[in-house]
Amino acid sequence: MTDARPTLPDGRVLGAHLPLANGLVAAVDRIADVGGGALQIFTDNPTSWRRRSEPPAEQAAFRARLAERDVGPVAVHAPYLVNLAGPEEELYRRSVELLVSELVVAPGFAARFVNIHVGSHRGAGRETGIRRLAEGIGLAFGRVPGGPDAPLVVLENSAGGGFAVGTTVEDLADIVDACAEIGVDTDRIGFCLDTAHLWGYGYAIGDGEGVDDLLARVDSLLGRGRIAMVHLNDSRADRGSRHDRHAHLGAGRIGIGGLHRFLTHPVLAGVPHYLETPGMDEGYDALNVRNALLIAAGLAPEPVPAEALRSRGSASLTAPG
Ligand SMILES: [Zn+2]
Ligand SMILES: [Zn+2]
Repeated sequence: MTDARPTLPDGRVLGAHLPLANGLVAAVDRIADVGGGALQIFTDNPTSWRRRSEPPAEQAAFRARLAERDVGPVAVHAPYLVNLAGPEEELYRRSVELLVSELVVAPGFAARFVNIHVGSHRGAGRETGIRRLAEGIGLAFGRVPGGPDAPLVVLENSAGGGFAVGTTVEDLADIVDACAEIGVDTDRIGFCLDTAHLWGYGYAIGDGEGVDDLLARVDSLLGRGRIAMVHLNDSRADRGSRHDRHAHLGAGRIGIGGLHRFLTHPVLAGVPHYLETPGMDEGYDALNVRNALLIAAGLAPEPVPAEALRSRGSASLTAPG
């Protein structure tokens, strides 16, 4: 069975990060059933350094179901522990190991993207952090050859808490330069813009003008071709608070004006968008997919029920069986 793709403008596919409590195949069915077309997953426990030694038993069936239901691209979100920008040697070594592991297992999940957070320089300074990150990516690439099936390393912008690197468009552009300087293959690197993180940092993406300014900057400093993914989230945090608190679309502080412009902006044409909104395991995946399509079309989203606003969402902290 082939499902019609959802209709975001200009060919961009709408997906979501879904929990895998019911397994990998069920997640493919779920995103297709709620009207989405792409999937982000964790390959294993996102808060642990330990990785499974064998691929999940369902993996081949998962790949087959992706093809049957026309779901993709698949993104793998690396564990939150990864910090390639930090000065501590042991954490750095383990972070490189974890990135290598994700790059190695990603093709088994038919994943085109391995999404990692840029990380924190932990007080060592922005330039040092960016150089460490570039070197770490280089070490990982040295151990996992490129090629047609090799996933892209997709670096996600941060909301800027602590000593975070990768909060500004300038940071992201400098990461590309730092990689190029030491001979890291920048064709294997892309970027993810998370709307809640942009907002937390302070970008004024609550209206069309602010989105236009930001994306013009992205296009001139980074180049639109470098944007591989969008994480489409509203935010419960104040703009500029440096906090990262994802909210249901239209029920947070970014609001529908800015999200509409994001969803229809030509700089992001063709880029897959993944929801990371709360309560994916409580049925709010369906509501947020519907509301993304409504907001993109310039229509009012459906109201988010009061109980959903109280729920903090149990996140997606489940590994595939
Ligand atoms: Zn993330
Ligand atoms: Zn994100």
